[in-house]
Amino acid sequence: MSMDEHIETRAIHAGQEPDEETGALMTPIYANSTYEQDGPGDHRGYEYSRTGNPTRTDLEANLAALENGSYGRAFSSGMGAINTVCNLLDAGDHVVTGDDVYGGTHRIFTQVYEKYDLEFTFVDTTDHAAVADAMQANTELLWVETPTNPLMRVNDIEALAALAHEHDALCAVDNTFATPYLQRPLEFGADIVSHSLTKYLGGHSDVVGGALITDDEALDADIGFYQNSVGATPSPFDCFLVLRGTKTLPVRMDRHCENARALAEWLEGHASVDRVYYPGLESHPTHEIATTQMDDFGGMLSFDLDATLEEASTVVSETEVFTLAESLGGVESLIEQPAAMTHAAIPPEEREAIGLSDGLIRASVGIEHVDDLIADLDAAFTAAGVH
Ligand code: PLP
Repeated sequence: MSMDEHIETRAIHAGQEPDEETGALMTPIYANSTYEQDGPGDHRGYEYSRTGNPTRTDLEANLAALENGSYGRAFSSGMGAINTVCNLLDAGDHVVTGDDVYGGTHRIFTQVYEKYDLEFTFVDTTDHAAVADAMQANTELLWVETPTNPLMRVNDIEALAALAHEHDALCAVDNTFATPYLQRPLEFGADIVSHSLTKYLGGHSDVVGGALITDDEALDADIGFYQNSVGATPSPFDCFLVLRGTKTLPVRMDRHCENARALAEWLEGHASVDRVYYPGLESHPTHEIATTQMDDFGGMLSFDLDATLEEASTVVSETEVFTLAESLGGVESLIEQPAAMTHAAIPPEEREAIGLSDGLIRASVGIEHVDDLIADLDAAFTAAGVH
């Protein structure tokens, strides 16, 4: 499979040749831990499944092809992937990152790696002067998420990667929300792309996984060293599930984007909705960079209801098509209230300061019929007394 093929074709075929012996189209689940050697140390590419497994090899090649990258590595979770990026750093190194990164990323940085003498500065990464100010002589990594959660702020990867490189630092981009179908950070100069495969790439809320993709052979070798040394590797069954998911990524994403846009427009016209956060809307503060960097605007949106915490809680509890749950990126629509769920650990004053109101509701817009999604939200608004 060459990189000249379109992403829809690569999603289905990259990394997956029919089995030479049997002609089986799908990569088998190689459920084994060890491999016969022809002589001591003389093996056929595989010796032990933490180090390498054929199902994982096909998934890694598929993910690399989707990101237009050369090397992919799969992990047992998105956090396993992020941990591996931290492993690349040395004690005394400094990292600059967004003040609205995923909570688990914030937690591993501050509660795990600060005690190993890594230093972190959290800034608004849409403010490039603030990022430049935060860079230090010992800054080795700029960690960027885009779009961010839950306000869907889009960060300018090209500008941020250039800033990182001016300081000889690596730029890593968490591309979980956008997916490679909508945005490919390596094309904008990023050094590493990180994924929670749990979300859109798996796509069916039935597997937890992570990945790192790069174009740099030496960097990939280092990532591979830590992947094998730390051992947060995915099972062959999980790799199979993600491979099954990536085949339909383009068609799923088209519908996610179409539904999210329609819902965002409906919400924007609703009298009780103060603000809609969807990068595809002209009213979104980072709409302009989203139009140049992304091929479409994704399936995630948030909105501010003119409502109390209790009323917003009633809305998310009353929906029937939208399921009240954390996580995102599956075919089914999910709804949640960040102030009471995903972002509850942030103190109320801090939440308010970063624009995260009590009435904020986040939706992972699925691929059901959009009329049913709108009718469901409308009925939940009515049930909560929001008109
Ligand atoms: N990155 C982002 C943007 C996420 O939303 C998540 C999980 O929600 C992660 C990373 C972590 O991934 P995982 O839950 O697969 O460990």
